[in-house]
Amino acid sequence: MRSFDIEKLVRKNILNLKPYVSFRDESKLQNAVYLDANESPFGKLNRYPDSTQKDLKQKLSLFKNISVDQIALGNGSDELIDLIIKIFCEPKVDTIMVMNPSFSMYSFYAEINETHVIKLDLDENFQIKKELFLKISQENGTKIFFICSPNNPTGNTIENIEFYLENFNGIVVVDEAYIEFSNQPSAINLLRKYSNLIVMQTFSKAWGMAGARVGTAYASSEIIQLINKIKPPYNVNTMSQEEVSEALDNVQNFQSNVREILAEKEWLERELKNMKAISKIYPSEANFFLTEFNDAENVYQNLINSQILTSKRSPQIKNCIRITVGTRAENEKLLAVLKNI
Ligand code: PMP
Repeated sequence: MRSFDIEKLVRKNILNLKPYVSFRDESKLQNAVYLDANESPFGKLNRYPDSTQKDLKQKLSLFKNISVDQIALGNGSDELIDLIIKIFCEPKVDTIMVMNPSFSMYSFYAEINETHVIKLDLDENFQIKKELFLKISQENGTKIFFICSPNNPTGNTIENIEFYLENFNGIVVVDEAYIEFSNQPSAINLLRKYSNLIVMQTFSKAWGMAGARVGTAYASSEIIQLINKIKPPYNVNTMSQEEVSEALDNVQNFQSNVREILAEKEWLERELKNMKAISKIYPSEANFFLTEFNDAENVYQNLINSQILTSKRSPQIKNCIRITVGTRAENEKLLAVLKNI
């Protein structure tokens, strides 16, 4: 185990913060007369959600084979990104490192929290340049490194994550939003070895529940306690807690959906390879492809004109469009437009 003094990395005000406690959730009373929270006695959703998300965490704990005190839940992993920056980064002083290109929300929340961002340009295979990482990571005040694997928008997994955990004196967040589509093992397996690791996953992608807004963080119980301490108490609503619990009772459904998406992905890749307009399809371990065109802007507009929305958000990867794998009917619509370009 790499020994690590997490407290030294945490903002003083967060360490000293007195947590908000829902006395109802603490009381362990069940089916009591609830006259404590000024709710209405009427209605289907009249009660506040369980702020400790006990039942859902219990199910996740069994499913992931990890203890309940190593799980935090967010209103999507987006919220967890925000909370993690808030815990460790002193506004105007501290810095996060992100990969470039990668998911834009790390920088978005850093900016909101007045935290500096250093972007590490990836190499030609979209891997992290180790020398560059070693140089930047030594700088004072660099508190968090966000590693996205499989990476959005490039689709590849990041090699040798342990190298970054070994060589960084801050928190490494491994965002595994797309891990269920990949053959790589989850970094959750590394939690036993590295107390500076936070692994984020989500119910928004492979689980098909983006509308529920439920993201998960797995880490040492010390880090999880910090997340729980600062999270909005009722951040995951009752309906979402119940829906996700139900999905966890129905794992076969999730597994068959993932299998279907992966089969469709294989088919789509074969079809895309026949398209003259496409100059390159990058290898993907996610449910999308980064595709390169001679004139991506033109293709993007053509697709929009046919009511097909793709993503073209990363100016640093020129002439690329990110295409999500849809249903067969949706993919066929996409291909029909591409054929004519
Ligand atoms: N991380 C990555 C890499 C993502 O692509 C996304 C969503 N696009 C998220 C996190 C956010 O997921 P959530 O819906 O759980 O907030």
